[in-house]
Amino acid sequence: MSFKNFTIETDEDGFALVTWDMPGKSMNVIDMTVMEELDAIVDQIAADDAIKGAVITSGKAAFSGGADLTMLEGLLKDFHVKRGNDPEAAAKVLFDGSRKLSQIYRKLETCGKPFVATVAGTCMGGGTELALACHARVVGEDLKMGLPEVKVGLFPGAGGTQRVMRMTDGQQGLQFLLQGRTLRASQAKQMKLVDEVAAPRKLVAAAKKLLKAGLDPVKEWDKKGYKLPNGKVYSPAGFQFWPAANAIYRRETHDNYPGARYLLQSVVEGLQMPMDLALQIESRYFAKVLQTPEAANMIRSLFVSMQELNKLARRPADQRPNKIKKIGILGAGFMGAGIAYVTAQAGIDVVLIDRDQEAADKGKAHSDELISKAIKRGRATQEQKEKLLSRITATVDYDALADCDLVIEAVFEDRDIKKTVTEKAEAAMKSRAVYASNTSTLPITSLAQASKRPKNFIGIHFFSPVDKMMLVEVILGKKTSDRALAMALDYIKAIKKTPIVVNDSRGFYTSRVVMTYIREGLMMLADGVPPAMIENAGKMAGMPVGPLSLGDEVALDLAWKIVSATRKDLGVKYVEGPLDNILEEMVVKRERFGRKNGKGFYDYKGKEKTLWPGIAEVTGKPKPASSFNIEELKKRLLVMQALETARIFEEQCLTDVREADVGSILGFGFAPYTGGTLSYIDMMGTPAFVEVCKKYARKWGPRFKPNKLLRDMARENRTFYGMFPPKTAEKDRDAA
Ligand code: NAD
Repeated sequence: MSFKNFTIETDEDGFALVTWDMPGKSMNVIDMTVMEELDAIVDQIAADDAIKGAVITSGKAAFSGGADLTMLEGLLKDFHVKRGNDPEAAAKVLFDGSRKLSQIYRKLETCGKPFVATVAGTCMGGGTELALACHARVVGEDLKMGLPEVKVGLFPGAGGTQRVMRMTDGQQGLQFLLQGRTLRASQAKQMKLVDEVAAPRKLVAAAKKLLKAGLDPVKEWDKKGYKLPNGKVYSPAGFQFWPAANAIYRRETHDNYPGARYLLQSVVEGLQMPMDLALQIESRYFAKVLQTPEAANMIRSLFVSMQELNKLARRPADQRPNKIKKIGILGAGFMGAGIAYVTAQAGIDVVLIDRDQEAADKGKAHSDELISKAIKRGRATQEQKEKLLSRITATVDYDALADCDLVIEAVFEDRDIKKTVTEKAEAAMKSRAVYASNTSTLPITSLAQASKRPKNFIGIHFFSPVDKMMLVEVILGKKTSDRALAMALDYIKAIKKTPIVVNDSRGFYTSRVVMTYIREGLMMLADGVPPAMIENAGKMAGMPVGPLSLGDEVALDLAWKIVSATRKDLGVKYVEGPLDNILEEMVVKRERFGRKNGKGFYDYKGKEKTLWPGIAEVTGKPKPASSFNIEELKKRLLVMQALETARIFEEQCLTDVREADVGSILGFGFAPYTGGTLSYIDMMGTPAFVEVCKKYARKWGPRFKPNKLLRDMARENRTFYGMFPPKTAEKDRDAA
C-alpha cells in the first residue's frame, strides 16, 4: 500500500522503517489523512508476518509540531450545529471523533510488534504522544519535546496524561503536563520519557539495535503486577502527594483553566484504572474540555489567530518582499540594546548608535551578556557568540546608517531629542529606507513632522524585555505608506515575533489598556480596598501581576509624566481624579518611583518585595476586606481593560479582532483563558457586558460607561467576531 505522508521500507532483518514526511509542509503535523494512514500502517505491520518490528522516523529536520488544531475546531463546529437537534448523538460524535488518535496510538502500543520512535528536533503535542505510545524512544541531542496543550486551553488527549504519569516521577510528570514545558534531551532522559540520546545521523541505527536486542512489545502497565512510579492514588504515599498537587494547581491557575482542571482529574482518576479504561477517562475529559468557551477562545487566539498574524495577515499584498540585511538603531539604552540583540540573532547586521562611544559599547555589551548566559546553559556556542557580536557595530557615526534598510529610534522619550536624531539619521539614510520610532506613547503622526519623508515613517513598538516578549506593535502614522508597513512587518517576521498593526493615537493600543489596569488598581486604593486584596484580585483574575505591582514595574514617575502630559494636552477637558493625587503624593512628595529606585507600592530588597506599609499614609486607612466582593474586584479589573479595548476598536485605532485579542495576551498578559480582551466580551455576551459596565458606572464612576459601539452591539446581541470577522484564514497552517 502506498501513502501520501509516509513511506515504508523493510530491511533484511524484517524491521520496517516508517518515514513520516508530509509533502509541501515544513513540519509534520497530525491531520485527518495522517491519522487514517497511521491507522492503516499499524494494521499492515501487525498483520505482516515478515515484519518483526518498526521504527517511526521523520523525513524532516524535526519530528512533528503536533496536531493541526483546526481539525478540532472543525469537530467542534460540527458538534454545535448538531447539538440543537440531538444533543446525545452530537456528544457521541464529538467523543468518538476526539478520541480517534488515542485509539490509533493504543492499537500501536498493543499490536504485538515493537515500535521505536526516533525523534530529532521539535516534537510537540500529538507528536510527543505518538513517541510515548511506541515501545522505546531514541532522540537526538537537539530534542525539544513538549505537551503544550494546556497553553491553548486543552490537555494532551491522545494518551499523554496517562503514559507520562506511568513512566516518570509523579511530581515531575505533573509539572511537565500542567506547565506545558519543553524538555531537552537530557531532561527527557532523566525523566525516563526517552531511552537513548544519539547523534542525529545515528538515530535509526540505534533504534534498530534496540529492536534486534528483542525490545518487549508489551508495556509494563499491560503486564500483571505493574506498580505506578509513585504508588497507588489511595495509599499513604498518594495521600502525601495528591492534596499538595491540588493546592499547587490552584495556586498556579486560580482554577481559571478548565484544561488544567480536567487534566488533573483525568490523571487522578485514570491512575486508578487499567490502561484501556484510563484512556477512556482521558477521552471523556478531553471531549468535555473541548466544549468549554475557554478552550475555543484560546485555540482561536493562541493558535489560529497567532499563526495568521505570524504569517503577516496584515501585510499589504501588493508590496514586494523585503530582504532586510542591515538595520540601524538610535539609542543603545535598555530597549535599543535589546532590539540589537534580537536583530543580530536573526542574522541581520546592526549599526548601534548612541551619544558617545561608551554608551554605544554598553548597548552592545548587553548582547554579549545574554549570549554568554545562553552558552553557560548549553543553549549557544562560542562560535555563535562570535558571529552574533560581529554583526553589531557600536558607533556614534550616523554615516554608518547609509546602507541600512530600516532605522529604529529608541532614544529618550522626549520630543526634541527624537526630532534631532530623526533629522540627523535621515540626512545619512538612503531615501527609500524606512524610519521607525519605538516610542511608547508619543503619537507617530506628530513625531513624523520632524521627518522629510513621513511616508517612510512608522512606529515599531517593542515590549521589555525585548528578548522575551513576543509581541511587536506596529503603528501607522497618517502618512505612513504601505511600503513602510511591509518593511516593518517583514522585519518583525525575520526576528520571529508576532506583529499587530494599529492606527495612531495616544498610547496606541497596549500602553493605553495597560494604563487602565494600573489606574483601576489606584482607584481601588482610593475606594479603600486593602492593597493586598487588590493585588490578589488581579492575579486571581488571571493577570500575571497585580495592578500596583505593574505600576511599580512600569515606573510611577513615568505614569505621573504620562498623566501630566495628558492633562497638558487635553487642557480643560481633563478630568482630575483621586489617581492624580495618589501619583503626585507617591512621585513628587515621596519620590517612590517603583522598582527602579527600590520603592513604590512595594519595598524592594534584591529579588524580594513586600507591600509598602506606608500606603495608608497616602490613600487613607483601607476599609476591612469584608466590605468588598472579591469576584466583583476581579471582574472590575478585566471589564475595565476590555471596555477600553472596545473604545479603541470603535475609534479604529484597532481594526482587527485577532490583533486585539492576541495583542492583549502577548503584550500585557490579559487573562489568557479568556482568549483576549474582545473574546472576553464575546464570551460574556455584549448585552451582559453592557449591563455590567452600566452597573459599575453607577457604583464606581463614569469611566465605566459603555461606548456607543458596545451599546449598539448589545441591542442586537452581536459579537465582535460575528460582526467583524477577520479576513479568511490561510489554508496551510503549521500545528501546535
Ligand atoms: P533608556 O534611557 O534606557 O535609553 C535611551 C538611550 O538613548 C540612552 O542610551 C541614551 O544615551 C540614548 N540617547 C539619548 N539621547 C540621544 C541622542 N541624542 N543620540 C543618541 N542616543 C541618545 O530608555 P529606554 O527605556 O530604552 O527607552 C527608549 C525608548 O523606548 C523611549 O522612547 C521609550 O518610551 C521606549 N520604550 C520603552 C520601553 C521600556 O519598557 N523601557 C518599552 C517600550 C518602548
